Amino acid sequence: MNERDSEMMLAQLQRAGHTIATNEKSADVVILNTCSVREQAEIKAIGKAGYLTRMKRTNPNFIIGIVGCMAENLGESIFQRNSAIDFVVGPQRLHELVEVIENGGKNLRIGESKSTKSDQDFSYRLKKFNGTAFVSIMEGCNMRCSYCIVPKTRGKERCRPVDEIVSEVEFLAKNCVKEVTLLGQIVNKYIGMETVTGGGKATFVQLLERIHEISGVERIRYMSPHPRYFSDDLISAHRNLPKLCPAIHLPVQSGSNRVLKSMGRTYGREKIFEIVEKLRTAVPEIGISTDIIVGYPGETEEEFLETVSLFDAVRFNMAFIFKYSPRAGTRSAELADDVPEDEKERRNKVLLERVGEVSLLYNQRFVGKITDVLVEGHAKRGKNIMFGWTPNHHKVLFSATENDIGKIIHVKIDGFATTVLLGTIVD
Ligand code: SAH
Ligand code: SF4
Repeated sequence: MNERDSEMMLAQLQRAGHTIATNEKSADVVILNTCSVREQAEIKAIGKAGYLTRMKRTNPNFIIGIVGCMAENLGESIFQRNSAIDFVVGPQRLHELVEVIENGGKNLRIGESKSTKSDQDFSYRLKKFNGTAFVSIMEGCNMRCSYCIVPKTRGKERCRPVDEIVSEVEFLAKNCVKEVTLLGQIVNKYIGMETVTGGGKATFVQLLERIHEISGVERIRYMSPHPRYFSDDLISAHRNLPKLCPAIHLPVQSGSNRVLKSMGRTYGREKIFEIVEKLRTAVPEIGISTDIIVGYPGETEEEFLETVSLFDAVRFNMAFIFKYSPRAGTRSAELADDVPEDEKERRNKVLLERVGEVSLLYNQRFVGKITDVLVEGHAKRGKNIMFGWTPNHHKVLFSATENDIGKIIHVKIDGFATTVLLGTIVD
């Protein structure tokens, strides 16, 4: 979501005549797009801003702004932490950025948007794509997960009209985009269809079907779905829509029903088993990844072991494991953060090891096979080494040229390193 917002800001600024600096030292304006999900993310951003404000010594016109969720969450208190910061703009007012900067950056704006302009105006897109693009289909969140700051920072749920999303994807397809990732805090809760026509199908599934018809689009992904809204017709869509990629990120947060209830997630572990079984029946090779919070208030060893047993049963091939971080203003911040840091760390490690084992076996399944890869760009490893992604969301490295960026090519998988597959182009 933040990457999408950064791209939108960049496009807005370019349209207003600004250019991209090659590095932060040569820039006149630096904007930090921040996250508030965990305290660590905020500490890092404040630290980085502190470092950057030193540039004012050599360039008195240097402007530094903090935007995104931390700007919304901490608001004006950011100026008390570092008075050299020029402006803070929350995620709902990013479309006003040009105005803020052109006013010398002194104009601090936070809070909800009063503008009538859509905060996701798709005309603000980069002209050059590398074959993939994020498309926001909804903003904000109406759920009240006990630990989560997102509803405070991104506001109430707003779904974009379906025709607007379809037009954006058509525009992208005309600009050589082959893969779109639909974004929202709960994409499968999307209700932007004005008239529900699809025989009672979930509106999100109807949207997928509309996007599936767009010629030029070859791959569709979405992030993140919520287990509670994971309907059978979404599972059928994975069977019936060939462009829908066989990889799902399904954040489950915990394997303990007591913890899930306290988190306000509105489902139990049984629901996860049911979804995963149906998905694997529909698409056997589907990759399933997740988000987990370890060390939630009161999480006992037995409850943690329920998450481990969920991992053993589901066999996620990738997971983001987060150590619980209390966020002021959320419901769980009222509860004692009683799992010690070293215990959170241990639980984190246990789960990462589990995922590592599964991921190794999952990777092995692809060795010797030929797979489609959408070439995204240069890998850090070497001059002509490129990287791209398979439909199952594996990152692959291979030798190729710059001309291949944005194309879907066939790659034979020869082996793998820790987190990437290694291959050779076969045509
Ligand atoms: N809307 C998505 C999640 C967005 S936040 C969903 O509901 O699935 C991304 C991830 O950050 C969450 O899935 C959760 O695992 C993690 N997270 C959110 N708040 C957190 C907190 N207070 N401490 C630790 N991790 C947190
Ligand atoms: Fe946060 Fe829950 Fe909304 Fe996801 S669904 S953004 S975790 S409140």
